Amino acid sequence: MIANSVLRGKIYRLLQFIVVACVFIIPFIKTSNGNSLFRFDVATLQLFAFNGIVNFASFFSAFIAILLVTFLFIFTTQLLGRIWCGWLCPQSFFAIRIESYAKKFKNKTIRFIAELIFAAIFSLLLTVIWMMYFVSPYDFIETLKNSHLMLIIGIVLFLFIFVDFAFVRFKWCKYVCPYSKFQVVMTDDDTLYVGMIPGKDSQCIDCKACIRVCPTHIDPRKNPDADCIYCETCVTACNQVFHKKDNTNGILGYVWGKSDKLNLKRPNLIVTFIISVTLFFVLIYSIVSTSEPVMINTVGNISSLGNGVYTCNVEIKNNLDKPVRIKFINPDNLAEITPETVRVYIQSTKTETITINTKGEIPSGVLTIEAYYDRNTPPLKFDVNIK
Ligand code: SF4
Ligand code: SF4
Repeated sequence: MIANSVLRGKIYRLLQFIVVACVFIIPFIKTSNGNSLFRFDVATLQLFAFNGIVNFASFFSAFIAILLVTFLFIFTTQLLGRIWCGWLCPQSFFAIRIESYAKKFKNKTIRFIAELIFAAIFSLLLTVIWMMYFVSPYDFIETLKNSHLMLIIGIVLFLFIFVDFAFVRFKWCKYVCPYSKFQVVMTDDDTLYVGMIPGKDSQCIDCKACIRVCPTHIDPRKNPDADCIYCETCVTACNQVFHKKDNTNGILGYVWGKSDKLNLKRPNLIVTFIISVTLFFVLIYSIVSTSEPVMINTVGNISSLGNGVYTCNVEIKNNLDKPVRIKFINPDNLAEITPETVRVYIQSTKTETITINTKGEIPSGVLTIEAYYDRNTPPLKFDVNIK
């Protein structure tokens, strides 16, 4: 039994580290189409997910996606309470680490400095990773150099997280986090919580070890409490007490609500589940019906090579399940475009540098370029500004 509880604690910590490692690695993993495994690209309003491209150019799709995430969150909270806080929330993950690493320093001033240093390191890490879910990690430095807006967002985000990690930590979970306020109305008598295992209260020796270690300063024996973040620290502390006392397991753990039985036949849970499933299918339908098979955008500025010759980068996204050959022409016959054709593989994105030779004959202005990829489909059009 003891072995089980120790093993469970180790699995819990291992799982936390695996989740955090995944969060850090995912933006760097490229799928066969050259995009991140999972990333929302702000430049193109597209979600890259497991080799697929979800086009959020449509406001309706984005709205449905936000609703779906909200309902999934409500569903998870109704069933599992604040499991997000203890198992997945980066705020509590890093706050717990900062406190436990800094605790090793006995001197108060050194401990405070250590807290600040850990807070700065973790804030920087989190800021960079968070931004890499919106900007390609491979263009990250370049984007910061070129976009003042992204740089400002990064600095503001870093300062915000730093202040939180350095000075606020669990006060955020208890007093500020909007999720903790909402979850009070989402949970019910059958929701999972961390607290006294039913029938074991008489074994409590009132040592208060669980209260001393609780980061949100509540009494775990009186749970469910809206301030509990499911960090399991009290469970570990109680296990240690009972291990020392008589080599048995502690009396705190996960409890399935008042009856301590998993109950899925709850009207609120069923309604949220039905809404989530419906929203999921509406989202799929809206994405499939609104996504463009092929998309072309110019990237960056056009450069002049002199003598009426210009170059610019175009990004071509092929959302089709077949490769396409794009043919560029200027419909007014004012310029020659090279290369004349570009091949783009299945479900992939390609950036190509095209050369526009106006033979010095057209005045400055906008030049329209047409791109054909299918005989039966009207061409895609994009404009380049010739200066
Ligand atoms: S009661 Fe236990 S699980 Fe809840 S916050 Fe306190 S220590 Fe963590
Ligand atoms: S650590 Fe366990 S025994 Fe000690 S007060 Fe808490 S619940 Fe009771």
